[in-house]
Amino acid sequence: KERLTLEAEKLKVAGEMAAGVAHEIRNPMTVISSFVQMMNAERHNPYREYTAVVETELKRIDEILSEYLVLAKPSATIKSDLNLHKLISDVMILFGPEMNNRKITATVDSVAACAEVVAEEKMMKQLFINLLKNSIEAVENAGIIQVKIENQNDHFIDITITDNGVGMSEEVLNKVFEPFYTTKEAGTGLGMMISQKIINDHGGKIHIESEMDVGTSIKVTLPVVPTNSPVYA
Ligand code: ADP
Ligand code: MG
Repeated sequence: KERLTLEAEKLKVAGEMAAGVAHEIRNPMTVISSFVQMMNAERHNPYREYTAVVETELKRIDEILSEYLVLAKPSATIKSDLNLHKLISDVMILFGPEMNNRKITATVDSVAACAEVVAEEKMMKQLFINLLKNSIEAVENAGIIQVKIENQNDHFIDITITDNGVGMSEEVLNKVFEPFYTTKEAGTGLGMMISQKIINDHGGKIHIESEMDVGTSIKVTLPVVPTNSPVYA
């Protein structure tokens, strides 16, 4: 228990520092990006092959920074009433083209009498983007992803994301929330850590069940109204 608390504290400090640095890197990055874009647009640029790579890699840095910026707590966190069925369906639309291409079937079913929670919209979107992205990356073509929303009781909502993808080994399960832990060639290893942080910030819980070559089921439990809700809009 003691070790976990220290570990969590270390992560929090590292996350806040990284978020601060990410903000600072963003500005010079914007300048570099705009000049590289200009170079790429230049007809007679003899280095187009190289500047195109620069642009791609800048995009990748930008992706990593975006994942970090979520860790930077805005000064006022605004929580509002959110319908999770609508929010998750909206997030699904973002992945529509990719799922279409790969013939992935995704469904969002709500058996919740009330799928509303008080939460920060941006954070909730980021959470379900991260989790759905992992499921999409875990399944083969024609894979199946199912999201189920249900009321656990009057105070908690369960959102379960199930995929029939590659699944996780014991080792992956143990390390999945560690920053930078990834089994993917181009992974950042930040998605699950950030998801866990968002869930913790909302007073929720995450539970993973996974079997290799069978699939993964991730259950997120969120309080309908977080007890530590500082601002209610
Ligand atoms: P990334 O996706 O960049 O690798 P994440 O933090 O999102 O980083 O995930 C960490 C690792 O957890 C992944 O590399 C993968 O091995 C494992 N993982 C997460 N979600 C799933 C899933 N739905 N199915 C199988 N493995 C998963
Ligand atoms: Mg991920």
